[in-house]
Amino acid sequence: MQNIHSDQAGSPANHYDVIIIGAGAAGLICAIEAGKRGRKVLMLEHTDQVGKKIRISGGGRCNFTNIHATPDDYQSRNKLFCVSALTRYTPQHFIALVDKHKIAWHEKKLGQLFCDGPAQQIVNMLVSECEAVGVTIRLNYDISSVKEDANFLVESNQQPVTSDSLVIATGGLSIPKMGATGFAYEIASQFGISVTQTNPGLVPFVFNGQEIEFYKRLAGVSIPCTATCSGVTFAENMLFTHKGVSGPAILQISSHWKNNNKVHLDLLPDFNLLSHLKDQQTARPKVELATVLSALLPANFVKAMCEKTFTNQPMNRFSLKDLTGITNTLKDWTIQPDGTEGYRTAEVTTGGVDTKDISSKTMCALKVQGLFFIGEAVDVTGPLGGYNFQWAWASGYCAGQYA
Ligand SMILES: Cc1cc2nc3c(=O)[nH]c(=O)nc-3n(C[C@H](O)[C@H](O)[C@H](O)COP(=O)(O)OP(=O)(O)OC[C@H]3O[C@@H](n4cnc5c(N)ncnc54)[C@H](O)[C@@H]3O)c2cc1C
Repeated sequence: MQNIHSDQAGSPANHYDVIIIGAGAAGLICAIEAGKRGRKVLMLEHTDQVGKKIRISGGGRCNFTNIHATPDDYQSRNKLFCVSALTRYTPQHFIALVDKHKIAWHEKKLGQLFCDGPAQQIVNMLVSECEAVGVTIRLNYDISSVKEDANFLVESNQQPVTSDSLVIATGGLSIPKMGATGFAYEIASQFGISVTQTNPGLVPFVFNGQEIEFYKRLAGVSIPCTATCSGVTFAENMLFTHKGVSGPAILQISSHWKNNNKVHLDLLPDFNLLSHLKDQQTARPKVELATVLSALLPANFVKAMCEKTFTNQPMNRFSLKDLTGITNTLKDWTIQPDGTEGYRTAEVTTGGVDTKDISSKTMCALKVQGLFFIGEAVDVTGPLGGYNFQWAWASGYCAGQYA
């Protein structure tokens, strides 16, 4: 442990009750809550703006919560860790804040709540709440070190500052060009706190080699499906891209994918394809397979499959074994991606600061009094659809009660 020797840092003007590093979703809510308790709060952000990810989220409309969010929806090494925070700060709490600021919103689908207008409204709301409780926000703040003795000392390209509590709200590794860094993991390691394996989540799959040509020619084609991997299934659309596959079903399943895993896609969920093909064979024996399948699936996809995998011929030429094979291919289309687009485009980072070293009630590190970790930095990851912001709000709220 190092002693803090800095006259500037020691001066009351540079001492805060709480310093929060990272002015994203979790940090902003935490600042508001700590400020409401009368704490003198300083937020430090290394980019030139607060809430950059909020601005671009939800296609610019911010999918700010999901009314169906429950702890069961989240992945973490300790699935029970998020229960306390998500129970104490629910989607209804955030909706009440949005309503207080008269921000119009709507449910798009599956409980996903979006702003009617720009996502910037959510950032403005959070900043005005921070202002109302006297939070100081400093931008372009390049932190060079964090030290701990009686207080926390944060050194940077600006004057050193000290605090009683230090909240790490710097998010995960997703989208470095928006300001993402591994700062939270570095601080965790510095203080002897474990970090679980991190991976890009909610991210498109890519294919290399010859296979990519198949995907490229179908870029833009979307198919409703179920995607299954590692025992988890999502029912949504998949989308072909120039590099492989994306779309909600693929993004969702990517968070559960590990290198070399196979992903199983049912391209006609809840539909008895074999029975349909047999019926068509009887009713329209001279009609070609491509015509039959094009009534069920996008014609471009059927054409590509007929060139690659199936023989396109009149239905009466297929044996039962052939029809069973076609059914299996479309109802259990198995892909083995070469990788993902990585942190460059991933919406989240799975894994993070290990929940075994953090209090689920306060978000404070068990080994280091006054050091808190919140938001995406922590090993709690939600699916697509407003769940990750809900975790950021809930964990930020909890830390704000104790920091
Ligand atoms: C394109 C995109 C769209 C998304 N859309 C949605 C959506 O609609 N709904 C949803 O629920 N989730 C969405 N997400 C996920 C969501 O944005 C994150 O889960 C959420 O922002 C995490 O909040 P956070 O506060 O933990 O981290 P962040 O919001 O990432 O904030 C971390 C902050 O810390 C700052 N920082 C990092 N390192 C340092 C450092 N060394 N010093 C100082 N500051 C630092 C960053 O610049 C940033 O401002 C989306 C993500 C992306 C990338």
